[in-house]
Amino acid sequence: MPAAETSASNGRQRTEIARRGVMLVLSSPSGAGKGTLSRLVLDTDRGIDLSVSVTTRQRRPSEVNGVHYHFISIPEFESLRDRNGLLEWAEVHGNYYGTPLAPVERAIAAGRDVLFDIDWQGAAQLIDRMPDDVVTVFILPPSMTELRQRLQRRAEDATDVIEKRLKNSPREISEWKRFDYVIVNDDLDGAFADVTAILRAERLKRARRTGIPAFVETLLG
Ligand code: 5GP
Repeated sequence: MPAAETSASNGRQRTEIARRGVMLVLSSPSGAGKGTLSRLVLDTDRGIDLSVSVTTRQRRPSEVNGVHYHFISIPEFESLRDRNGLLEWAEVHGNYYGTPLAPVERAIAAGRDVLFDIDWQGAAQLIDRMPDDVVTVFILPPSMTELRQRLQRRAEDATDVIEKRLKNSPREISEWKRFDYVIVNDDLDGAFADVTAILRAERLKRARRTGIPAFVETLLG
């Protein structure tokens, strides 16, 4: 993309300034609604793509390989990790999860935003590795009762899996201080509006708008 060009959205012309993509990390304990929020963002915003993680966990009935995750074996995971193919990785609830490196690097450099649905351990690694690109959001449930009910309503995991996730949730919630933004998901529309506002503001950050110097130079003739 050139340093600046005009584009029309909602019938309005806007000057688009070249920029690096935002790495938007959404983390939460299981059942806080992060999956639903992620889907809403991805379905409504054409500028952002999901980072499709690799995982060694069993595929849920509703999940599609290559869309929600790349489902791989433990040896495949270890080989990818040991070849430095992962930007971050962690063991979560007894399974391995990791973010493939190459698609993220390509997207960010091209000015595409990337959404990461990863746990706090992954968020911490991304903050370490790419501090200028990463924006982290932690989603809290309104109550522990609601968290349990959401996990049970989802009905895609076995009872022992749900119990393990609930048992791990206080530990996960205690990591909230690592994050740039914290949202209480007591109302889906409200929480979605919050995420959208964060993304919109972060897209305007001077540091990632690499086209501003050239734009200003042209502006001043
Ligand atoms: P689930 O099994 O419910 O899809 O995910 C379990 C947890 O693992 C969630 O907190 C999810 O955000 C996290 N997770 C998913 N993919 C990754 C990944 O690539 N890296 C890390 N660190 N966590 C992940």
